[in-house]
Amino acid sequence: MLVIRTIVELKSILLKEKKGGTVGFVPTMGALHKGHLSLVEQSVNENKVTIASIFVNPTQFNDKSDLEKYPRNLKADCKMLENEGCNLVFAPDVNEMYPEPDNRIFKFGILGSTMEGKHRDGHFNGVGQIVSKLFDAVEPDKAYFGLKDFQQLAIIQKLVSDFDYPIKIVPCEIIREPDGLAMSSRNTLLEKEKREAAPFIYKSLLTAKKMAETNSPESINKWMIAQYESNTDLELEYFEIVDSLSLQQITSINPERPCTACIAVYAGKVRLIDNVQIIS
Ligand code: AMP
Repeated sequence: MLVIRTIVELKSILLKEKKGGTVGFVPTMGALHKGHLSLVEQSVNENKVTIASIFVNPTQFNDKSDLEKYPRNLKADCKMLENEGCNLVFAPDVNEMYPEPDNRIFKFGILGSTMEGKHRDGHFNGVGQIVSKLFDAVEPDKAYFGLKDFQQLAIIQKLVSDFDYPIKIVPCEIIREPDGLAMSSRNTLLEKEKREAAPFIYKSLLTAKKMAETNSPESINKWMIAQYESNTDLELEYFEIVDSLSLQQITSINPERPCTACIAVYAGKVRLIDNVQIIS
């Protein structure tokens, strides 16, 4: 498996490798786990060439210390990717992706301003900047994104549609630890007691899903807030039940319209997100 550092090299190698076959692309920030690898596995099954990128993108971090703390382990990541059948790794440095400051502003509308957008100023603009640069560099046929980052997936779909990228976006299921905690590179940063408390996030989402059979979103919100108020290890940042397409908060549940419960929680200094589809 080749590890490529520059866009010029990447383009020439891809041209040779694909030979009329399709290219599947898995963008990541590294510190890989089974969640990332499930995306790679799906791409390997569906394409002639699979390329993963590893790049901790500074423009999507609104918190500088979060960027500094973000786990990095290129050597171990490459080993895992190779074992999974990945063909190429693109691991550029910051100057390669941003030879000069990127001043582009993306207009994602409510998809970008709600939930994560409200709490992480500029985050999705940074996601738009790096994903468009990576799409331009790789020119994949298909790109694989995890439903773990549910709002990000909506942003990427809009990016592809607004800029007419000829790329099929493939949403992939959330991979969880045996205790239900959604896998995340940030889980390695959790203190022991916070790690023990964290499976409550998924449990609370599953209860919310069950409650949605007979309760309104408003009463589920109230219940959720009370749950976290009495939890000394986890701090609720937001909980919202949203329309799965528009990401607008809903006031009643319609069995005919897909909706999703989304949550962000602080476990100490580590911010975790998760979601569960209420109506799929
Ligand atoms: P990241 O490295 O966190 O930027 O994630 C890279 C890709 O992996 C994104 O499309 C994520 O949604 C996806 N991903 C991260 N964690 C999981 C998970 N637990 N299950 C499925 N996909 C995931």
